[in-house]
Amino acid sequence: MIMMSVNVVLKKAKENVEKLVVHCDKLDAVLFICHDESGCHLGVNKTVSKITSKYYFPNIIEHVRKYIQTCDECQKQNKKAKTVIPELCPVPCGKRIWGKIGIDLIGPFINKERLPISTNGYRYVITMIDYLSKWPEAFPLYRKEAKEVAEKLSETIYRYGAPDEIISDCGGEFNSKITAELMKNYGIRHITTSPYHPQANGLVENFNQTIKNMINKVVVDNGSDWDMRLGKVLFAYRTSLHKSSRYTPFEAMFIRKPIFPNEADIGPVSAAPEEDMSVEVVEQLLEEEKR
Ligand SMILES: [Zn+2]
Repeated sequence: MIMMSVNVVLKKAKENVEKLVVHCDKLDAVLFICHDESGCHLGVNKTVSKITSKYYFPNIIEHVRKYIQTCDECQKQNKKAKTVIPELCPVPCGKRIWGKIGIDLIGPFINKERLPISTNGYRYVITMIDYLSKWPEAFPLYRKEAKEVAEKLSETIYRYGAPDEIISDCGGEFNSKITAELMKNYGIRHITTSPYHPQANGLVENFNQTIKNMINKVVVDNGSDWDMRLGKVLFAYRTSLHKSSRYTPFEAMFIRKPIFPNEADIGPVSAAPEEDMSVEVVEQLLEEEKR
């Protein structure tokens, strides 16, 4: 196995990104890690971005196209009617990471008998996304109820801190006494979107459509374990470059590159930047939102 590490200077903040030059006998492993294992079968562009964040080999786009064309999972999904992801409505982002959060529910994931597909009994997913970093969260829910929504909101508040604003639609599960009390206690402004203008919560709508497509892709047979796969789906989204951003949500949140599952089999990865880049990353994200 011939492999060498070279410095490829990318103009990404002040960081000189060290990429691994991949020998052809490891190409399939890299494609598998970036497209299947940590990509949840995302498309060509996102898979290429993920690969080029760490690796180099000639004709990357061509290799990725061919790989996806012969990927069983992607072909199965392509045969099904694909939901078109709506254009993202421009909404001002928050001023800080986890400062402005969009929340929504997706589901129900039920069968013809109206029973949960998940053997664990989950029917819905609550999704949250940070407008600045695009960091997503998703939790399975048993019911579309305010109590479960409040529990999950509380869980993220104690993980990332309290946001300044939460945007949701007018659903009863978001507009109950419990949620009003929670928002008041934590000093959060709750903004509800009009049923006639749901696109005001465009980022979360867009994320929900993406995550729905991704869940469909990982649920191969009966989907009974979809709730167990949410982590994998979220990791794929968090480590993919967002259209409007120069950073993946993971990099924006943790100021370091993620290590993909099984990545160690390929070779050494670039080290995290030594300096604290958090202020710079936030400033750049804010700049990009203005464009
Ligand atoms: Zn695929």
